[in-house]
Amino acid sequence: MSAYKYCPLCRETLALVTRPEEGLDVTRLRCVACEWTHWNNPTPVLGAIVEYKGKILLARNAAWTTRRFALITGFMEAMETPEAGVAREVKEETNLVVSASTLVGVYDFQKNNQVLIIYHVQAQGDIQLSQELLEYKLYDPKDIICWPSGTGYAVAQWQRQRGIEPVFKAWEDRTENE
Ligand SMILES: [Zn+2]
Repeated sequence: MSAYKYCPLCRETLALVTRPEEGLDVTRLRCVACEWTHWNNPTPVLGAIVEYKGKILLARNAAWTTRRFALITGFMEAMETPEAGVAREVKEETNLVVSASTLVGVYDFQKNNQVLIIYHVQAQGDIQLSQELLEYKLYDPKDIICWPSGTGYAVAQWQRQRGIEPVFKAWEDRTENE
């Protein structure tokens, strides 16, 4: 469930403790000595459907074990707006400069305890990938095959907004060029 073992305030052991919170009994990892609680709230992650020269840029992350192309994503930083954060991520990952961004939607990604905030962005410049990305592809919007998880649902919603009926396919069911 969680990697935390000790209280960050008093270093006592943490344990799953059930307590009433606003009238409901809730079990959370809590310090047995002080009032510290590991809330385990989802972390905001920003994602970009990057439009570049009329195409959509999908990139392959070096950390992914299978050859998949997906959105540019990154953790939201303290003291930034979501719009500024998504522009920062796009610049860091691709070297492209974002000139406009539109919110596509907000999605849960429970597997990683994250909440995804996805934008469609217009970007310009010369593509230079960061070391986190191995390669990219530019897709016609109608040719993107959606993946049935997290950011894939955002791509599907964005396609529907443009009159494209999305097609889903799991990564493990794809051929080399899909
Ligand atoms: Zn404590």
